Amino acid sequence: MSLSDRMTGRWGELYSDLLPELLPAMEAPLQHHPCPHPGHISRHGDAFRLFRDWNESGGGVCNTCGARPNGVLMLEWLLGLDRDTVVAIIRDWVDRVEPVSARVRWRTPAIEQTTQEDDLKLASWLSQLWSQAARIGDPGAETARSYLRSRGIPDWLIMRTGNLRGVPSLITGRGSQEAYPALLGRYQGSDDQPIAVHRIWCTAEGKAPIEVPKKTTPHRSDRAMRGGAIRLFEPYRGTLGVAEGIETALGASLVGNMPVWSCLSCGLLSYFVPPEGVHHLHVWGDADRAGIEAAERLAKRASHVRVTIHIPETTGMDWLDVWNKSNEITDPSA
Ligand SMILES: [Zn+2]
Repeated sequence: MSLSDRMTGRWGELYSDLLPELLPAMEAPLQHHPCPHPGHISRHGDAFRLFRDWNESGGGVCNTCGARPNGVLMLEWLLGLDRDTVVAIIRDWVDRVEPVSARVRWRTPAIEQTTQEDDLKLASWLSQLWSQAARIGDPGAETARSYLRSRGIPDWLIMRTGNLRGVPSLITGRGSQEAYPALLGRYQGSDDQPIAVHRIWCTAEGKAPIEVPKKTTPHRSDRAMRGGAIRLFEPYRGTLGVAEGIETALGASLVGNMPVWSCLSCGLLSYFVPPEGVHHLHVWGDADRAGIEAAERLAKRASHVRVTIHIPETTGMDWLDVWNKSNEITDPSA
């Protein structure tokens, strides 16, 4: 299936995660709204609206800035990124985020009532999923721990993490007959509120042999992923690191000897909001184009704190690769 086929009917979900400035236009799609582009010259007048089929196409138009007929062009325009980077962000999102009925994700007056009911159901499902999972050091999380060890994370670090749990068996999606053990990570917003749970289905040797072994749960329509993270450790004396995936964040914690949180993806990394009390933020980016751009965008956005960017020297590597490479046993006779 092509990326545009996979995104048909899902732009609302992606926008509510990555472009919450479109929420007013999404809630009243036939009306005009102030242009969401930061470079729009005059803020007066309502010049922007989404197309009638926006959830299928992602398209919309500003009378001054011009039409953006699809979601890729919309993201390029609003994020100021090139096409390849935007496509990588969308691909990462659609691989990771499980589809939900569109109405769960944002509100229109006609479906307000249903949305509130769906939100409550979702919230109770999420809190059940989390509260029934085993703490990372408990027997129920044994496979989750083995998975992390198989990736090169030492036990002593695993045992010190927060917001990671494990389950011995979790179905691999709605209506699925398949189940595997899973590592769970609790994603919290910049306001501390729990928002979603990231799931990595696994075996003791690695990722579970299923098509999509890593998925984030849906979240309530009134909460946004943007700005948040999985808080793996407490910040230390005002210092905190951030990285994309959970495993990468743990690798960066080891290499950098500091607490590093996981933002799950480069798109979300670039929107991270450092919590109060943090004055030095270390961005542990992946060594690919999307990773480097995300790190740079975060550095610009978080300019009120000191920011240091770390990118592995070798293209294509992340900080877990770097950690594992530094531990390779070299044969002295070679
Ligand atoms: Zn405009």
